[in-house]
Amino acid sequence: MRIVLVGPPGAGKGTQAAFLAKNLDIPHISTGDLFRANISQGTALGLEAKGYMDRGELVPDEVTIGMAKDRMEQADAANGFLLDGFPRNVAQAEALDVVLKADEMQLDAVLDLEVPEDEVVKRIAGRRICRNDSSHVFHVEYNAPKTEGVCDTCGGELYQRADDSEETVRTRLEVYHTQTEPIIDYYRAQNLVVTISALGKVDEVTARAMAALKK
Ligand SMILES: [Zn+2]
Repeated sequence: MRIVLVGPPGAGKGTQAAFLAKNLDIPHISTGDLFRANISQGTALGLEAKGYMDRGELVPDEVTIGMAKDRMEQADAANGFLLDGFPRNVAQAEALDVVLKADEMQLDAVLDLEVPEDEVVKRIAGRRICRNDSSHVFHVEYNAPKTEGVCDTCGGELYQRADDSEETVRTRLEVYHTQTEPIIDYYRAQNLVVTISALGKVDEVTARAMAALKK
């Protein structure tokens, strides 16, 4: 199965991608991992990407597409893959179609995780991270520490990352609406879009996604 996962920031895309890939026995291909792998292995595309990043510039679409193409052509992706974070705009979606066609492949589904905007803001802006260990994550409402501002695990101070402020979340949502959301219409025209609600517990969302994909 070849799947593209889309959804706004805060939809739990990364978590769902990992579970779905495991359930479907296909590799989870995230742009973050692609960049890290290409840069650490010093591939030509990785060096190119690093050059842009070091200059504080955006990595051009063709570099990202090249990395995704290399990854999709690896042996473990022969029976499918789950793309997470790519494509993130219509130009990338069009380029992906060209790449897939050249390899005589096609997508089976585009899974669209839907979360109301206010819920996204609540999820992200309520997140608190421990200064001692960034894996100690709490939420003021959904997973509150016993003492406000103090990590249950190690007693460290909890803080809100700058990226998680309400203002930043609203900006990220705006970028998602203008750049990424149009790919849903693009794929809808190909009859590929499966929309599910991303509300509820992680395993409930996974089950919902699996049921929707089987149809
Ligand atoms: Zn801690």
